[in-house]
Amino acid sequence: MTVLQCPYCGAYINEQARVCPKCRESLAVGGAHSAARRGEKGEIRRGVMSIALAAGLRYLSSGQTTIPIPFEIPTLVGEILVPLLFLAGVGLIGVGAYLRLRS
Ligand SMILES: [Zn+2]
Repeated sequence: MTVLQCPYCGAYINEQARVCPKCRESLAVGGAHSAARRGEKGEIRRGVMSIALAAGLRYLSSGQTTIPIPFEIPTLVGEILVPLLFLAGVGLIGVGAYLRLRS
C-alpha cells in the first residue's frame, strides 16, 4: 500500500482513496498536478471576472446608463476602485498565463 499526501490539506492518505478522508476534497486523476492546473485556470477566470466587474462599474458610474440607479455612486468608485479592479484582473490573467506557460 502506497501512501500519498493530500494536495489540499497535506494529510497522508491511501493511494486508492478517491476522496480525502480529512478535508473531503476529490482526489481525481493527476493528483497534485491537476490541482495546480485548476489553480491557474482559476486565476485567469478570476481575472476575467474582475475586468468584467470593472467594466460594469465603469458603465454604471459613468452616468450614461438608462437603468435608473436608486442611489448616488461616489466618484471614488469610478476614479480609484474601477482602475484598481481592472489592473488586478490584468495581473491575475498574467499570473495565470505565466503559470500555464511554466507547466
Ligand atoms: Zn485533504
